[in-house]
Amino acid sequence: MVREQYLEVKQAVTCACEQSGRNGEACTLIAVSKTKPVEMLKEAYDAGCRDFGENKVQELLDKYDKLPSDIRWHMIGHLQTNKVKYIVDKVALIHSVDSLKLAHEISRQAVKKNVIVPILLEVNIAEEASKYGFKACEVMEAVAKIAVLPGILVKGLMAIAPFVENSEENRIYFQQMRQLSVDILRKNIDNVSMDILSMGMTGDYLVAVSEGATHVRVGSGIFGNRIYK
Ligand SMILES: *Cc1c(COP(=O)(O)O)cnc(C)c1O
Repeated sequence: MVREQYLEVKQAVTCACEQSGRNGEACTLIAVSKTKPVEMLKEAYDAGCRDFGENKVQELLDKYDKLPSDIRWHMIGHLQTNKVKYIVDKVALIHSVDSLKLAHEISRQAVKKNVIVPILLEVNIAEEASKYGFKACEVMEAVAKIAVLPGILVKGLMAIAPFVENSEENRIYFQQMRQLSVDILRKNIDNVSMDILSMGMTGDYLVAVSEGATHVRVGSGIFGNRIYK
């Protein structure tokens, strides 16, 4: 079941890329495996998936130990500063940098472990009270401050769009994210690339791809609904 769903979403992402005039491989599908057992991740892995997203440090570490080492682990959830040290040398990308304090701690731990950590700044694009992230108007200043920190590369931006019935309602937010990344790139800041635009989830990933997402994060569309105890 996971295999079929993964391949179906993967195919849909490829098609949406091509329809928007990009290479079919231009958007990476991240399988968001939070709360799901390793057997299900293994099934996605066997279907070709190498990018997995988790939102809790302990769960990521458990799965990291049990699954093949060629997996790229994406930290996509709110990260507490005291837990940064456990994952800096294990994750391929931290999507959820939502404060200067967190960026400073990632830098400190990266230097300590002698690694370079690619990060994204999380943008609360719809300014929802329930969500973390910088406001759009704060991002430019934050990028400039974070870019000078050692051990960090600012690779782009991430957003979680509002939960909506009709995914078209989120198109405006995806467009705003894309514009923001273009504006930042134009500033030509050292250590800042804006290669990555992480946006789009099960309900709205096709709209996100059509607006330029380079990474989509799909959970329930691959693994089924999550049950929280
Ligand atoms: C859970 C989660 C997802 C995946 O959500 P689905 O709607 O199940 O696809 C994507 N991004 C983040 C940050 C998440 O926490």
